[in-house]
Amino acid sequence: MAIPTHVKYLIIGAGIHGLSTAWHLGEALRKSGRGSGKDILVVDKTSIGAGASGIACGVIRNNYYQPAMRRLMAHSVSVWESDPEAFSFHPVGYMQISPEVMHEQVGTIAQQQKEIGYESVFIEGEKDSMTYMKGLFDDWQAKGITSVLHEKKGGYANNTASLYGLAKKAENEEVRLLTGAKVTGFKKDNSGAVKTVVTDKGNIDCDMVIVAAGPWVKQVWDMLELPAAISVKGRDGKTHDGVAMWTFWSLQEGTLGVDPKLQRTNDGKMPPVIHVDTDATLYSDVDHSEITDHLWGIYYKPDFNFGGVQGGAMPYKIKTPADEVAVDPYGPDSPDFIVGDDFAHMWCSALAFCQKRFEGKLPLYKKEPSGGIGSFTADSFPVFDRFCDNVYVIADSNNGYKMIGVGQLVAEDICGQESDLLQPFRFSRFAEGKLHPQSNSPFPWS
Ligand SMILES: Cc1cc2nc3c(=O)[nH]c(=O)nc-3n(C[C@H](O)[C@H](O)[C@H](O)COP(=O)(O)OP(=O)(O)OC[C@H]3O[C@@H](n4cnc5c(N)ncnc54)[C@H](O)[C@@H]3O)c2cc1C
Repeated sequence: MAIPTHVKYLIIGAGIHGLSTAWHLGEALRKSGRGSGKDILVVDKTSIGAGASGIACGVIRNNYYQPAMRRLMAHSVSVWESDPEAFSFHPVGYMQISPEVMHEQVGTIAQQQKEIGYESVFIEGEKDSMTYMKGLFDDWQAKGITSVLHEKKGGYANNTASLYGLAKKAENEEVRLLTGAKVTGFKKDNSGAVKTVVTDKGNIDCDMVIVAAGPWVKQVWDMLELPAAISVKGRDGKTHDGVAMWTFWSLQEGTLGVDPKLQRTNDGKMPPVIHVDTDATLYSDVDHSEITDHLWGIYYKPDFNFGGVQGGAMPYKIKTPADEVAVDPYGPDSPDFIVGDDFAHMWCSALAFCQKRFEGKLPLYKKEPSGGIGSFTADSFPVFDRFCDNVYVIADSNNGYKMIGVGQLVAEDICGQESDLLQPFRFSRFAEGKLHPQSNSPFPWS
């Protein structure tokens, strides 16, 4: 495709957010008579799904301690449900299985799911939790569990297939996709608005830029000359200056190379995605040595796409300053951020801790490179906002393959219909101290 010299809307990134925004914006322009998908160009330096969306485990859940996140996720689940086939969405549900330290907080999630009409079942108490889990899997044996939140909606989707489904919807709206073109800078006018996007294939003048660059967002943020450090009014009521806007975390995921059908429910059905957090001591499934006596967590699902039982464990924060973290080569191609033997040992031992069928299965763990890094904001929650007058930044703080609906809300916002669902994710929350509540979960995104 020849590179255009001018477009109305230029979207950077062909991941879940860039493609969803392109599709919905094309539709909104057409329906409102203000234009069409022909006004939109998606630019990606590599290809569709070259970023985090293309390696995401694909879990889609509502289970968040923050009310604003739950409302947003409920909206996104409705978008997944709108075309499960195109998005390769498997609506098997999701389970948050928790220890006593998380009981009360998960109870509030269950309560608020009722209030927003998001179907779930909440089981409380050690004995009832065990009975409920054994009703699903007769080999269930996880210890230290005192509540089970069973979300009947959500589940997971196959990452690449869903992105191509989105790309097709965008192309049906006549959106153009330009891959192999890297954005390297911006030219601004006197008012500070971007007038030209500089790429390694040529310059493109545009009216509006939408940044959906996933783990590369810091690079684009820097090109826009936005602040590397910000002031945050903390939960202590004090303003903390010089807080790094971006940090990176390394996500730990892998696949146990068993027949995915090994993980069926007692009645032979595909099971919900399982997420277990517990403070029970975790011992090695190999030599019974202690792995950890701190709060730990894992998630897993049978997945024919990955060819086994796929999932992950808690990520770790990358201590290197964000400026020095090598985002490229990304994901499994990274020499720095792929999981190692420690992860395989911990995760397989944890699977065996949960269900007897996984005991002794560590030798079947797939030794292919997996995992990847995510870019997190100062409070680990998304920023969806306008900067430099005509730049819309979609920075999901690594919460967001599941957030397929954000593109719809951003498209509406761009067309002048501001959404209440996006309000809690404005950049001004840092200075105003309108931070989201923090949970007791061992994961930064719960
Ligand atoms: C291992 C892993 C597992 C995950 N699992 C889940 C999960 O189960 N569920 C969930 O909800 N979330 C999950 N996430 C988080 C989720 O993947 C991300 O939050 C989400 O995919 C980000 O989407 P995006 O569209 O913003 O970015 P991406 O999908 O990363 O897309 C960004 C695109 O921008 C392009 N790009 C970057 N810079 C430039 C430039 N300068 N010029 C042109 N193009 C550029 C890249 O090539 C890339 O294709 C996971 C993340 C990781 C790393």
